[in-house]
Amino acid sequence: MLFLQLAEVFEKLEKTTKRLEMFEILSQFFKKISKEEVDEVVYFCEEKLLPSFKGIEIGMAEKMIEKSIAKCSGKSASEVSKLYKKTGDLGIAAEKLSKKQRTLIKTKAPTIIEVYNTILKIAKTGGAGSVERKINMLAGLLSKVSAKEAKYIVRFVLGRLRLGIGDPTIMDSMSKAITGDRMKLRPDIERAYNLSSDLGLVADVLFKKGVKGLKTFKVQIGSPIRMALAERLPSASDIIKKIGKCAVETKYDGLRLQVHKKGDKIEIFSRNLEIMTPMFPDIVQGIKKQIRAKTAILEGEAVAFNEATGEFFPFQVTITRKRKYEIEKRAKEAPLVLFSFDILYINNKDMTQKSYSERTKILHRIIKKGFTIRIAEKILTNKPEELEKFFEENIQRGTEGIIAKRLGAEYQAGARNFNWIKLKRSYRGKLQDTVDVCIVGYFKGRGMRAKFGIGALLGCVYDKKKDMFKTIARIGSGLTEAKWQEIRKLLDKIKIEKKPVRVDSLTKPDVWTQPKYVFTVMADEITKSPMHTAGKTKDKPGYALRFPRIKSWIRDKKPEDSTSVKEIEKMFKMQKRVKTIRFVKGK
Ligand code: AMP
Repeated sequence: MLFLQLAEVFEKLEKTTKRLEMFEILSQFFKKISKEEVDEVVYFCEEKLLPSFKGIEIGMAEKMIEKSIAKCSGKSASEVSKLYKKTGDLGIAAEKLSKKQRTLIKTKAPTIIEVYNTILKIAKTGGAGSVERKINMLAGLLSKVSAKEAKYIVRFVLGRLRLGIGDPTIMDSMSKAITGDRMKLRPDIERAYNLSSDLGLVADVLFKKGVKGLKTFKVQIGSPIRMALAERLPSASDIIKKIGKCAVETKYDGLRLQVHKKGDKIEIFSRNLEIMTPMFPDIVQGIKKQIRAKTAILEGEAVAFNEATGEFFPFQVTITRKRKYEIEKRAKEAPLVLFSFDILYINNKDMTQKSYSERTKILHRIIKKGFTIRIAEKILTNKPEELEKFFEENIQRGTEGIIAKRLGAEYQAGARNFNWIKLKRSYRGKLQDTVDVCIVGYFKGRGMRAKFGIGALLGCVYDKKKDMFKTIARIGSGLTEAKWQEIRKLLDKIKIEKKPVRVDSLTKPDVWTQPKYVFTVMADEITKSPMHTAGKTKDKPGYALRFPRIKSWIRDKKPEDSTSVKEIEKMFKMQKRVKTIRFVKGK
């Protein structure tokens, strides 16, 4: 199929304001395309060239793209730059300039696969002289396409397609296209995606081999597995009531890592499933020295260690290890310790179907004593008092709390359920837990903040069923002046003209942004509010966070990993219960 047809779909998607329409447009399109090009279409819709764990970047900065546009339109780079400044969108600049171009030269229009392969080739071009070669290759591609295609190609190469489709919508659309029913194939598609983290590959297998093909997906070294997540309960006794005798582990506040070992080849993935290996040479060394297994996939939380004080650093320091420069220096200043808590694969055997008890027994067996790789501290108990005591000790030590784990549970990739239950720091009389919100826009500041042009953020929680982001808070505190400025710069890079399709909001911020960054927010309590859309129905108001303040920013979480509306509902109920208990106790 011609790329022009995909560009037309993008145009339609861009015009919609409703997620359901988006879903209809996509499922219609999936019906029309051939099975050879479905993976490319999925990657284009995900706005990436390949899944992020493959670590491939297109590597073309604005200036380079301007040069490509200049080359194929016969304008000077400064003219392109001027038009870019005027329109605020390099895609539109390309579209405007290529109009004339198209009438002069008539070449064969490229297919979706051809456009994809050319961009992939650009991404893979490196080494001496690669800047020039990349510019020429993109100019070559742009000279073959119409104005409309040029607009979307430029936006894609720049990482600013910003259609905001989201994986759940893509999965639903594929299911609808094949079976006529949105949910019918969803469990099979999701399972394959959870194991491979590659939706393009899942689509390719589904369209070529059907559901039978999806069933053959299994854990593989080198492909990150989507991580299991924890539910929450308000107290130690609720936890024991729910899962009985369990393992209670310290909940470290660091970076969740999944480590894949194949002989001496080590790969490290973040919770977002990005490849992080080059950033953590200390963990790579630790795994090589301390793990007694030929092949293994293990998970843990990495926390930076302060050698001067013998204590662990808070999250804000750990996160500074996620950087591309001065890696060795930072590894010396703040070495990481990986508190391992699970093993998913060992010596060519998939362990995800085994119980927690069996898995952790093996984990203990294969870790040699050393500095970097350690086992997460834990107790086994069926007594709420013991659980409570371990929790309090952990809070005293400054960790985030505990995670209780069901002893007989398998590892459920990508799932949040009661196999893992978190209990976090409790604040007397206040909200029991923090909330992860996805930022979808900001308000320009008043008063003191006016000079920074940013005064508050609009935060959303995630409605999993509807695949929508619902507002819950306007957050204006918790950051230093310098951080506000830094955040504004980051958000300006992802700003968009109108409300993102997957955002449901009654408030209009001064600047809308793509849902991309997740911040952890502390609040006094969850209240009911007609101003917000989280949990709002025709006859019920929504939920809001009272006195929200940022606790840590830019977590390694995807927008869809934000706290869900369902969790907020549960937290609201728990909060009411805790208040009642306190009242009864006379506190
Ligand atoms: P939350 O991000 O609040 O939903 O809590 C889940 C996160 O806690 C996981 O994704 C891990 O990054 C982190 N974590 C810290 N310690 C543990 C542990 N012992 N077991 C599982 N997850 C842990």
